[in-house]
Amino acid sequence: MVYWAHMSTEKNMEEIVSLAKRRGFIYPGSDIYGGLSGTWDYGPLGVALKRNIMALWWKLFVDEREDMYGVDAAILMNQKVWQASGHVDTFNDPLVEDLETKQRFRADHLLKDAGYQVDGLSLDQLTQLIRDNNVKSPNGNELSDVRTFNMMFTTTVGPVADDKAVTYLRPETAQGIFTNYKNVVDSFYPDLPFGLAQQGKAFRNEISPRDFIFRSREFEQMEIEYFVDPAKWEEAFEHWRQQVWKWTQALGLADENVHELEVAEEDRAHYSKRTIDFEFDFPIGREELLGLAYRTDFDLGNIQRVSGKNMEYTVKGTNTKFVPHVIEPSFGVERALMAVLTTAYTEDEVNGEKRVVMKFPEHLAPVKFAVSPLVRNKPELVAKAREVYEILKKKYGAVMWDDNGNIGKRYRRQDEIGTPYCVVVDFDTLETDGLVSVRDRDTTEQRRVKPEDL
Ligand code: ATP
Repeated sequence: MVYWAHMSTEKNMEEIVSLAKRRGFIYPGSDIYGGLSGTWDYGPLGVALKRNIMALWWKLFVDEREDMYGVDAAILMNQKVWQASGHVDTFNDPLVEDLETKQRFRADHLLKDAGYQVDGLSLDQLTQLIRDNNVKSPNGNELSDVRTFNMMFTTTVGPVADDKAVTYLRPETAQGIFTNYKNVVDSFYPDLPFGLAQQGKAFRNEISPRDFIFRSREFEQMEIEYFVDPAKWEEAFEHWRQQVWKWTQALGLADENVHELEVAEEDRAHYSKRTIDFEFDFPIGREELLGLAYRTDFDLGNIQRVSGKNMEYTVKGTNTKFVPHVIEPSFGVERALMAVLTTAYTEDEVNGEKRVVMKFPEHLAPVKFAVSPLVRNKPELVAKAREVYEILKKKYGAVMWDDNGNIGKRYRRQDEIGTPYCVVVDFDTLETDGLVSVRDRDTTEQRRVKPEDL
């Protein structure tokens, strides 16, 4: 029983990946040259979906709030940022090597996949677990001892590649927020609590990228650093816990598929005093969708120490000063997108015929309307349909013209990319009522409406 359940979720993931490629959502990166592991390219529908997700986040957490400010910092930053933040010393994953093939694996993932409990184990304990149980690599060979591997991509800035020129592609967007905290306080002097929000690329040299876009080497984050009075961190943490649920609901994810995991101290990131991972039931299993962390004054304190600049906030109208503490909800775009894709993917039957339909929430669907003439060889039908198309296109942007094949085929094609409404101009439109037919993606029901009421 369990075996079959496993098989069907695996299959589901494969089908989603294949649909994503075939229909122009997501392609493997550099595919034409044999690929580059851990990188993905977004096609026309993927980029629309991704932008809709990112715009929704910005609307909920920046535009609709009074206490949030947006920033967009440079990806390349002074190396001191990553020294002060602790990433140079501690942004590591446990690595183990196949002694024959030299292939490298993440030790904790390899052991977890083999059924061992690895949470909170040190490098030595992971090595011991391998030795005690004679765990082999997936190729059946002996494994090395477990050691650390820093996940930051190193690069050099400028024409001289010496130590001073070294920097890193940012592994999180958060530091670009912390380094601008003082700038924003000086420009706006916001009341506490207030937050800074940023969306943008992050890079991690994951030891073994896998599971489609879930674990990529280049991905996108949406992060908030919410600055609070240290005495009030718990209140703010609870506020953001609720906001995260608001987010997962806005994505259309069912509450029962989202789970809070209180992360034990030994498993928390070096900067965190409390973390809740929000996990989602992906077809690959229950995995982290996003994180909520209490980062204390770890980052602003480090910046103050290393830069020598004062990071204290003065409470308005008082002499009370302190370095604010920080609550950080950290959202991954790819994981949100993968949760939306897997939630939307549905197989059902219409008139005894199997169909695949992506049931995206309307506000996230990459295409909102498809417009077509019933047949394409009647110029007057085509002209009227073009007229309707142009009106909708101006109003909604994400509107597709589709006059290929017969109408049934068009519906199937639009179902597969999750278009909520297909509008068809037929002979009745021209000859009798002027109404167009609108077919609903989920119910497949058709209604006749005035074009201007669409
Ligand atoms: P994991 O334990 O899965 O490696 P993490 O705990 O290291 O993730 P964080 O450092 O908390 O992740 O990053 C915040 C968010 O960024 C994650 O919740 C996830 O949504 C996203 N993220 C992190 N690493 C990746 C990655 N390699 N690919 C895609 N998204 C990622």
